[in-house]
Amino acid sequence: MSPPVSHQSPPGTSAPIALSYELFPPRNETASASLWDTIRELEGTNPDYVSVTYGANGSNRDTAVDLLNRLMTESTLRPLAHLTCVGNSAAELAGTIAELLDHGVRGILALRGDLPTKPADAPDAGSLRYAQDLIELIRHVEQQRSALLCAGRVAIGVAAYPAKHPESPSIEHDLEVLLAKQRSGADFAITQVFFHADQYRELVTRARRAGVTIPLIPGVMPLTSLRRVRRLGELTGVEPAPALLDALGRTTGAAEARRIGVAATVDLALAALDAGAPGIHLYTFNEHAAALDVLDRLALPRPARPGPLRRTALPELVQA
Ligand code: FAD
Repeated sequence: MSPPVSHQSPPGTSAPIALSYELFPPRNETASASLWDTIRELEGTNPDYVSVTYGANGSNRDTAVDLLNRLMTESTLRPLAHLTCVGNSAAELAGTIAELLDHGVRGILALRGDLPTKPADAPDAGSLRYAQDLIELIRHVEQQRSALLCAGRVAIGVAAYPAKHPESPSIEHDLEVLLAKQRSGADFAITQVFFHADQYRELVTRARRAGVTIPLIPGVMPLTSLRRVRRLGELTGVEPAPALLDALGRTTGAAEARRIGVAATVDLALAALDAGAPGIHLYTFNEHAAALDVLDRLALPRPARPGPLRRTALPELVQA
């Protein structure tokens, strides 16, 4: 393994670099067992939160809510619930938001979700149209539950796009949308994957110039197989870097592909940190090995947290 890359805190801030991971709800029991192995490994790195994805149209609502509940009751991790609004009415979504808050979730990533590809599945006229509508709905439900929240706020995150959103007419339009999401109550943004460090740097520069002040956290994914990079490009509409495709295409085995993918991700994350990124969000694909390799190499300056009391220590305390 290569030696860790040392990294300085961004100038002008003494805050530690935030660390978070994305997980997705498992599709079956085997996937669930493997996800929980990953959760236990990631827990050891003391992330600030882990985000849990949500199917467009609420297709996996129950498994997502179940994973969020289990994270809160069976792990030390703080969850950030993704929520998509496309295809759902305000009443349905208000019910889900209320349920999440009542279960103890205090952070929501407000998203539109991808539009259905088949015309027959087009969203009903009454469904929410944009992520901005969902932010406003979350703030409304939050206000109704103000006493339950001790008048505190729910942290609302949104998506941002270093390479233009595929449906957007221009980068400028993307910025207007991001600014509108901030005005409606977004507290922070996590970026879509990107393959060129300049894209993140330019997003930050343009956003700050346009009046966006919220943290823009780069989302980076260890791209350790050619198949995954291609699939990701198809799903997100983000053009993969030809050099990475080429390097992964020439590998002779999984270990070499992992080394190349991890190195590329570390380079991207370091460049984003040098551009002032306040944190790193790692898309894990529910796998910990490559994510932990990236983390080792980044050697982020992170605060140590006090660990939970070990069960075996309790009788000793009682006797003392
Ligand atoms: P919006 O911000 O609503 O934007 C959607 C499109 O509409 C854009 O082209 C925008 O320019 C345009 N637009 C927005 N507001 C307006 C307006 N007022 N007037 C005119 N045009 C407007 N998808 C999932 O299904 N589940 C997930 O869990 C999930 N997690 C994600 C996590 C991250 C960090 C990111 C970056 C993306 C995630 N996605 C997820 C994908 C996301 O749902 C898609 O990228 C989707 O196409 C757009 O979502 P959005 O929240 O950016 O939508």
